[in-house]
Amino acid sequence: ATPTALMVGTGLGAKHGILIKNGEILEAANKLDTIVFDKTGTITAGKPQVTEVVGDRHVLQLAASLEQLSEHPLAPAVLAAAKAAQVKLLPVNHFRALEGQGISGQVDAQAVFVGTLKQDLGLVVAPALTEKVKVLQKEAKTVVLVAINHTAIGLIAIQDTPKKEAQKAIKELKQQGLKTIMLTGDNQAVAGAIANQVGIDQVIAGVLPIDKAAAIAKLQQTDRVAFVGDGINDAPALSQADVGIAMGSGTDVAIEAGGIVLIKNNLKDVGRALKLSQKTFNRIK
Ligand code: ADP
Ligand code: MG
Repeated sequence: ATPTALMVGTGLGAKHGILIKNGEILEAANKLDTIVFDKTGTITAGKPQVTEVVGDRHVLQLAASLEQLSEHPLAPAVLAAAKAAQVKLLPVNHFRALEGQGISGQVDAQAVFVGTLKQDLGLVVAPALTEKVKVLQKEAKTVVLVAINHTAIGLIAIQDTPKKEAQKAIKELKQQGLKTIMLTGDNQAVAGAIANQVGIDQVIAGVLPIDKAAAIAKLQQTDRVAFVGDGINDAPALSQADVGIAMGSGTDVAIEAGGIVLIKNNLKDVGRALKLSQKTFNRIK
């Protein structure tokens, strides 16, 4: 493309809230095979709501006491539920965020963990509770376990619904011949249920934040890959991808790492950005 065509292309993008950092990125967007999406805040609206609490009052109380110190997107949901139920928050010592797994801390000399049900964390979970987890996950709900001294005392189910344009946006990308994948730290059942709702072909679940970039690199062995994300954790994957596409609502780190920024946070703008690239590079050779 001529410099003029490039300027027209990037200018047209900017006019529609699609910021493209340079000509190479605009060109790379014309040669993609696969688009990988983060789940929370990218495919979903990122406004999670608590739908049920299993266990007594302590479940919500302990979870909220820890979540008030957390910056995770699930934290506001738990805090809102605790406020609605008028539970009193307790002081927490030794708070720790376990990236991609949950949070821990000490409350009244008890070791409290709030987070995902993973075998390797060595939590003791009663069979009835494990059953409940499976049912909720199939309903596309993220399950947050609350444990005292490594024994689960209950759980909180949290639902984050897909953005309203997600299904159409994915359909349009697939019509352009692209493969779509969801890459998430959440578990396979939840991710699979949400992917189903929006028509995403494939799910790579249970991936720790530090492993997301490696998952992209693996796909790049055969495909040219774009990654769409919004979180602090997404920055390495955004940099690794052939085209990193950041949501404008995302963290500064994500926006910095993205080659394309979607100011309007609309998933349809992924397809629009790719079309813009096609126009720019196919018209003038
Ligand atoms: P995602 O890939 O969707 O952005 P993360 O990698 O941040 O998700 O987290 C993966 C999973 O770990 C979450 O779905 C949740 O089950 C658990 N988790 C992480 N942090 C927290 C937290 N602060 N409170 C509750 N659960 C958490
Ligand atoms: Mg996210």
